[in-house]
Amino acid sequence: MTEPLAVVGAGAAGAAAAYRLRDADRDVTVFEKSRGVCGRAATRRKHGCRYDHGANYVKPGDGPVQGLLDELGSEGRHDIAEPVWTFDGDGAVAPGRDGDGPKWTWEAGITQLAKRLFAEADAAVHRETRIESLAREGGRWTLTDADGETYGPFADVLLTPPAPQTADLLGATDWGGDRLADARDAVAAVPYRSVVTAVLHYTFELDREWYALVNTDDAHDVGWLSREACKPGHVPDGESLLVVQMAPDWSREHYDDPASEQTEAAAELAAELVGDDRLRDPDWTDTQGWRYALPEAAVDREPVAALANAGLHVAGDWVVGEGRVHRALESGLAAGDRLR
Ligand SMILES: Cc1cc2nc3c(=O)[nH]c(=O)nc-3n(C[C@H](O)[C@H](O)[C@H](O)COP(=O)(O)OP(=O)(O)OC[C@H]3O[C@@H](n4cnc5c(N)ncnc54)[C@H](O)[C@@H]3O)c2cc1C
Repeated sequence: MTEPLAVVGAGAAGAAAAYRLRDADRDVTVFEKSRGVCGRAATRRKHGCRYDHGANYVKPGDGPVQGLLDELGSEGRHDIAEPVWTFDGDGAVAPGRDGDGPKWTWEAGITQLAKRLFAEADAAVHRETRIESLAREGGRWTLTDADGETYGPFADVLLTPPAPQTADLLGATDWGGDRLADARDAVAAVPYRSVVTAVLHYTFELDREWYALVNTDDAHDVGWLSREACKPGHVPDGESLLVVQMAPDWSREHYDDPASEQTEAAAELAAELVGDDRLRDPDWTDTQGWRYALPEAAVDREPVAALANAGLHVAGDWVVGEGRVHRALESGLAAGDRLR
């Protein structure tokens, strides 16, 4: 008999799980609160530009991810040619920190990753459907969304939202027993870094040897700065667009500041770091606050694994404890294997 399975979250982990289950005898339904798919690996389009304002690219890692990406096809996929350089708290820029394999990007944006996985997966995807609670009755799960609509019954549920949001769901789960409270506490304990992303656009080209600069001593207000024009198809000729990810301390302190103040600070710092005064004056800007940007540790596995007997499963970067797209994909693939 086909066993119905619900996946909450259509980020890299949820998409990889759905893809891995594509030829299994499972009836897969995915619920995603946003309009788009791919979660924190996000792409926006504005004024003729396309930019990835969350995850910048996908590394293959040393597991199954390169094979997975190849299965999805190489059309429109590029390895960013320019290297990542480093800078310290004083803003001193130096070559280095590259050479560990390709940095995959897509002309149509990093969301191509989840779009291609779902295109191959045999799953129904409900977008703009925020799951707010779960209930277990007669050995089956039902899910209820923010509009009060109920879905199910499902034999298994795979939860993939960031740990704090998964903890909220576990807190809103109607099922007795200590196992649930212990798992919720373990998931809620995963620490996160917040990141404010500032997007700065300019009507001139900015030529440098590097694609990106990354801070290596956690002593600068900027954590990361990259030139989106290095990604084919993202920025028209004669223009440039910088993605500036502010450091976690700065992001926490300024998270609720007006966007104009965030971008003004980012432009000032970018001008200093890159050594070009013109960068103080972008012609348009954009921002995104990522409250739960990057998990700083993995969840305590045992209390969470104890839920699997009741058909409740988790996947995502916080399960492996590393905020990287390929790690989220690996986690989703592993969950898919277990659920086959
Ligand atoms: C600013 C930034 C820069 C980064 N840079 C890189 C990088 O360069 N390289 C790299 O490898 N990684 C990077 N990362 C990390 C990478 O984005 C994540 O590790 C990865 O995308 C996590 O995937 P996931 O599927 O585990 O979670 P998510 O992508 O968070 O997916 C979870 C999904 O669940 C949905 N959801 C949440 N709650 C509910 C609900 N109640 N009901 C329904 N749906 C729900 C969310 O909308 C989301 O789509 C970066 C992250 C950030 C924020």
